[in-house]
Amino acid sequence: MSVVLEYLTARQPNMLDTLEEWVNHDSPTFKKQAVDALGRQIADAFARLGASVEVIPQSEHGDHYRIAWGQAERQILLLAHLDTVWPMGEAARRPFAVRQGKATGPGVNDMKAGIVVGLYALRALIETGRSPGHRLVYLLTSDEEIGSPTSRSLIEAEARRSDYALVLEPSRGGPLTTWRKGVGRFDLEITGVASHSGVDPEKGVSAIEEMAHQILKLHAMSDLSRGVTVNVGVVRGGSRVNVVAASAQAELDLRVMTAADGKRMESAILGLTPVLEGTKVRVTGGINRPPFEESPAGLALYERARRVGARLGLDLGKVGSGGGSDGNFTATLGVPTLDGLGAVGQGSHALSEYVVVNSLPQRAALLAELVLDLGKR
Ligand SMILES: [Zn+2]
Repeated sequence: MSVVLEYLTARQPNMLDTLEEWVNHDSPTFKKQAVDALGRQIADAFARLGASVEVIPQSEHGDHYRIAWGQAERQILLLAHLDTVWPMGEAARRPFAVRQGKATGPGVNDMKAGIVVGLYALRALIETGRSPGHRLVYLLTSDEEIGSPTSRSLIEAEARRSDYALVLEPSRGGPLTTWRKGVGRFDLEITGVASHSGVDPEKGVSAIEEMAHQILKLHAMSDLSRGVTVNVGVVRGGSRVNVVAASAQAELDLRVMTAADGKRMESAILGLTPVLEGTKVRVTGGINRPPFEESPAGLALYERARRVGARLGLDLGKVGSGGGSDGNFTATLGVPTLDGLGAVGQGSHALSEYVVVNSLPQRAALLAELVLDLGKR
């Protein structure tokens, strides 16, 4: 048995204590104070191990943290986010709990357990006297759940300095994530001409009718065989039932597998034109997470992780995901990226969210051993 895994298995209760503390600390993306307080707590835990902590202050969203350990020239980037999709008060309503080998609570899987895995992997390396061939740089960011508007440039800058990017997002049931779809967000604003629907119907042009045409066009752009989907998820419009609608708005979500499809779909959506004479269609938005495409370098990294996992008794498959992560940014830059290295669990963003408790030491051991393996060349 690996010494690192043995060390971590013995620390499973400590890992759970840490996880409990962090899950019971709400950190919704839009509550800067709460995210900052959690960030400080987590950064302190890394600092106690001797890591150097740099705060990257933010005015609107929570502060980001760059946490570095080791003196090596070459660098591995480890990505995790502090924010969750859950509101303030959620942890008080349904606090951290462990039952039948599963840990529950808001954000337990996405991704507070992933940060615990990252912290304890480092602790295991230090306390078993291993030194990786790379400097380890953890970025703890505050705005992943809203598309990383303030952390993206920081993530990209660190990725450019790194040989590898390891993403501590959760694993659905065990496999590692080797690709993710790209994500686009668009707003559609339609202007029509208002009139009395009974007295002057011919003087009006309905923005809602125009919206109906646009929605059908948009949904017809989906192509499941290519992994391309367009979803108009929010629609608003009109003012009164007896008024021909002067305006309508929609919000839509685009998912693509390849950068080429991303470009093509982006220009098709931004280029939408009205069907009804007298209406105006204005589209804004674009791709905000480029696709994380499966690459030879990414697959080679997965293969190394799979072999490392096999030595620990783990059988690690690979999967893709329709959801984006910060790994999309690093993979797009050509940095070999492996995702899903956090805890094993299910139900992110849902009330059913949980983490498999005994995956915590296993995943931390996998991460520690992978980092050592990557230093061997
Ligand atoms: Zn996440």
